[in-house]
Amino acid sequence: MSFSHLGLAEPLVRALEAKGYSEPTPIQRDSIPLLLEGKDLLGIAQTGTGKTAAFVLPSIQRLSEANKRVLPTHCRMLVLAPTRELASQIAESARGYGQFSKMSVATVFGGTSIAKNRNDVARGVDILVATPGRLIDVIEQGFLNLSMLEILVLDEADQMLDLGFIHALKKIVRMLPRKRQSLFFSATMPPSIRQLADQFLTDPATVSVVPQATTAERVDQSVIFCNQSEKQALLTILLQETKIDRALVFTRTKHGADRVVKLLAGNGIASNAIHGNKSQPQRERALAAFKAGEVPILVATDIAARGIDVSGVSHVFNFELPNVPEQYVHRIGRTARAGRSGEAIAFCADDERPYLKDIEKLTRQKVAQHELPEDFLRRAEQLKSERVKAIGADPAPREDRPRGARPPARPKATHAPRPSAGSPQSRNYANASAGAAGGNGGGNRRRRGGRGRGAGGGAGAPAGR
Ligand code: AMP
Repeated sequence: MSFSHLGLAEPLVRALEAKGYSEPTPIQRDSIPLLLEGKDLLGIAQTGTGKTAAFVLPSIQRLSEANKRVLPTHCRMLVLAPTRELASQIAESARGYGQFSKMSVATVFGGTSIAKNRNDVARGVDILVATPGRLIDVIEQGFLNLSMLEILVLDEADQMLDLGFIHALKKIVRMLPRKRQSLFFSATMPPSIRQLADQFLTDPATVSVVPQATTAERVDQSVIFCNQSEKQALLTILLQETKIDRALVFTRTKHGADRVVKLLAGNGIASNAIHGNKSQPQRERALAAFKAGEVPILVATDIAARGIDVSGVSHVFNFELPNVPEQYVHRIGRTARAGRSGEAIAFCADDERPYLKDIEKLTRQKVAQHELPEDFLRRAEQLKSERVKAIGADPAPREDRPRGARPPARPKATHAPRPSAGSPQSRNYANASAGAAGGNGGGNRRRRGGRGRGAGGGAGAPAGR
């Protein structure tokens, strides 16, 4: 089936051809005709299924056909997304799909100046992609008015609820005209999300491309049982011996993510972290380096990773298992995108076993158990002694230090020579240092001095994301 068979107009079909898409994905095939008819839609779909095009394409067509002029400080279509990354990803897609349809697209999210937001919407914009908090700020300061909205899209609704956006969402919806088309997407559909959908939608059609809470079929999943303190060596060894295109490493907390970046650097592996404490430019730099394959290991918290759409993620490492089982589904959905296969490996410490149980209950499947790599203990010991040699100290993991004890002094980064400009590793070094990790990255397989503080936060680590 082709896109034109779905009823899409020529400028959209041309934009899809320019992108090289020859066939609609299942969610596009099922949703586009319904949306072109003007129906409200409840879409149950994970990221990676092509759902952005499924809602952007028919919306552009309906906006074109209605042929209304947008007034200053108004928008015609609003897409609400939980994270800045996802919002900018959606806006980028909308610009691509709408390139021959003369649709203006803008974003409004935190981390950029509100003056810029005001300028971007001042003359009115056809499609606005926003995160809820900043959107409300912009509206309350009188820079934007939603009274003429024609289409509302709520993307990743389950994530919105997890992030506590419920009141913001309700507030936004109260500002919208009653007569509008509403679309609601979520990867999972627990009762709380269904209730929210009922409030937002009128007589919606339902489209589901994954049965509720089943995990991405093409992802090869496994779990390795280990101690929390062994995870760092385990990750290093797996990264060293696995052929990886791009790997996402998930931690539960921001501090956990930073610690993994540091300890990988201590083992000679460059990576970047992406989480809520990083500035927008840092996040964008880290993501760009990851997409370009310059620093192909990205350590992320669940929230920050939501907008990451990179088709070449070959591996997802669950360095810490999520305490919310739905997050596991989201995490592993970052690989095996756009028809490719992928591998998801979970590290499970003793105190995380209940989380694994919850995940298996939700996904209704048992995660295959893999053994620790051959000769693991000896290799872990060797890594540790090499790190000690490199930094001249043996910093005990934070959780092993006596309460109140100060960590050893941070070594000066003089133990390993910085690669000269133009050396094969210098590009990685530059990117990793400049990126969100805050430096200390070596070439991807290069040994460098570093702090190597031990494994990331245990199950009881603070929940900041
Ligand atoms: P999404 O689920 O919207 O995040 O899309 C996942 C990825 O699939 C993105 O990289 C899209 O650009 C890509 N994609 C969307 N629709 C198609 C299609 N019909 N054929 C090939 N790739 C697609």
